[in-house]
Amino acid sequence: MRKPFIAGNWKMNMLTAEAATLAAQLAEGLKDVKDIEIAVAPPCTALSAVAEVLSGSNIHLAGQNFFWEEKGAYTGEVSGLMLKDIGCSHVIIGHSERRQYFGETDESVNKKLKAAFQCHLTPILCVGETLEERETNKTMSVIERQVRAGLSGITRADARSLVIAYEPVWAIGTGKTATPEQAEEVHKKIREMSVDIYGNDLAEGLRIQYGGSVKPDNTKELMGKPDIDGALVGGASLKAESFIAIIKNAS
Ligand code: PEP
Repeated sequence: MRKPFIAGNWKMNMLTAEAATLAAQLAEGLKDVKDIEIAVAPPCTALSAVAEVLSGSNIHLAGQNFFWEEKGAYTGEVSGLMLKDIGCSHVIIGHSERRQYFGETDESVNKKLKAAFQCHLTPILCVGETLEERETNKTMSVIERQVRAGLSGITRADARSLVIAYEPVWAIGTGKTATPEQAEEVHKKIREMSVDIYGNDLAEGLRIQYGGSVKPDNTKELMGKPDIDGALVGGASLKAESFIAIIKNAS
């Protein structure tokens, strides 16, 4: 059985004090949740404060991005070791906003995945098609390319802890959610691909999150699908009330 995994991506929001307050509200409101794995990804500047608040709680800390080198002359970047050092156990890789606005490619995503495993961070690999790609029937080929390229050279041993997030770009921050059927179709395809790459056993345990305007009132239906194992939540993770409701509705 796969344990559902719900993560909140706070993106470029929250000053330190706001982040610490939100983290404290989540730690309190979610302290009895045992059947769902939970993580939050604050901006880098708030990681330290949030780590302190979440210490001893059931909420994991995630980075939103990092650079694959361990250290060196890379102005403005943070490494996986630095994320680990500050208390992160997870990192989001290849979010569509990184691909769209910051030039991330399947190749850089692959390098980051390898680096994440190297420093024992659990990667959440984001994949998803744009509206134009969906409308021109390219969804499955885009997903296939992103998954295969992202996982190129990733060993079975490493892939055991991998998490994949299917996030249709047209549903992120737009209020438009993929229907549970549209999401399930792609999740199923991702699982089939992982069977092909890593075999049945590993694919059965692989957690695939859905992301794209997840809210308290659409969580249950999405989570009811056999291949949807959780959610990556943007906007609705910025308020304790809605993020807690999403997790409670997923239980
Ligand atoms: C995201 O950015 O990962 C996301 C899914 O955002 P939202 O929930 O706001 O659509």
